[in-house]
Amino acid sequence: MHAVFLVGGGHAHIQCLKQLCEESIPDTRFVLVSSNRYQYYSGMFSGFTEGLYKEEDIRIDLDNLSHKAGVQFIEATVTELDPENKRIVLDKGEALSYSIISFDIGSTTNNILSSSSTVRTVKPNYTFPDAIKELRDSPAPVIVGGGAAGVEISLSILASKKRLGQSGEVTLISSTRLLPGAPIGASAKLEAKCLEYGLHLFINEEVENIEDQIIQTSKRSIEHSGILLLTGPASPPLFQDIGVACTEEGYLLVQSTLQSISHPEIFGSGDCVTLSPYPKLAKNGVYAVRQGPVLWENIKRTLRNKELTTFKPQKRFLSILSTGGKEAMLLYDRVYLHGKIPWKIKHNIDRAFMKKYT
Ligand SMILES: Cc1cc2nc3c(=O)[nH]c(=O)nc-3n(C[C@H](O)[C@H](O)[C@H](O)COP(=O)(O)OP(=O)(O)OC[C@H]3O[C@@H](n4cnc5c(N)ncnc54)[C@H](O)[C@@H]3O)c2cc1C
Repeated sequence: MHAVFLVGGGHAHIQCLKQLCEESIPDTRFVLVSSNRYQYYSGMFSGFTEGLYKEEDIRIDLDNLSHKAGVQFIEATVTELDPENKRIVLDKGEALSYSIISFDIGSTTNNILSSSSTVRTVKPNYTFPDAIKELRDSPAPVIVGGGAAGVEISLSILASKKRLGQSGEVTLISSTRLLPGAPIGASAKLEAKCLEYGLHLFINEEVENIEDQIIQTSKRSIEHSGILLLTGPASPPLFQDIGVACTEEGYLLVQSTLQSISHPEIFGSGDCVTLSPYPKLAKNGVYAVRQGPVLWENIKRTLRNKELTTFKPQKRFLSILSTGGKEAMLLYDRVYLHGKIPWKIKHNIDRAFMKKYT
């Protein structure tokens, strides 16, 4: 009997669960280990922040989905991997053996700036609702990070305050222009929209220090009532110095088959891995979702001793970021468009995604 462990209820693993609802694999026991019963969907974080979606709308019940798939669910965090003995250790101390293991545990946030209790992150994703409710309802929240997540969350906090008639200021600080990877025109348009909506926006400013009530940038000090760091992904602490191949930063290094380059029985997908043929590939939900079918196929092929298939990332993908008040900016390659229609498209895509798993 094979024991296949799926660690983390991320985007690729929920697709494996969905597949297991439809097909059964002989002589194989599947186990999902994830830190929380719920997997929160980041595509809908902005809508939840703004008050457009309820908590139940934006999360997948992993226990329920596992049950339907005939998979054992263990609510726990994997704290150690022993690749030589094919064992994992859980935060509760239990050690478990696997024949094949797959990691889809996401990334963490680099918090090198401060140990102040006023500094929050939204990773792992089940911490998001509490962190955001506290920050949103405080009078002067500051968001650090000018990527898509930072822009969406700042503008949705602002939209929530407007909806509820709450006073207060929302500040966004970015060390670069907003969305540094997007066309300059898209960044400029977004920056203009932020100012039009009344966001306190400081771009091209580095955060130097954070204290309980003050955040210091390279140009000014700002009073705050709470800080949210959306400063991009950092690696999870699981893979370093244990003999499994990983990058200098600590991401699990996998081939385009999503198989570890050092241990063929270890698979990985989503933010926690770096693909050796595509080391610069962005870490986002789009690629994590696209890896799902390849991962599932390759787990099955490994069990049957068949040749594995490969993941090839697409060069361009659609991204839509909410700017509050049921408006959004759509970006595809060099094209961008802002308004109500992009928000409707996003709403429909996100709802359809959730419907598959709930
Ligand atoms: C505010 C915000 C908005 C975003 N919007 C978008 C967007 O619109 N589009 C997009 O493509 N990307 C977006 N992203 C990025 C996206 O959220 C991530 O790239 C994506 O979630 C990564 O998916 P994943 O499958 O790798 O892991 P995750 O979705 O992070 O899931 C990891 C899972 O593993 C569990 N876990 C973690 N550690 C362990 C452990 N040691 N043991 C057991 N379980 C563990 C967690 O509880 C969680 O269930 C956004 C990010 C943020 C912060």
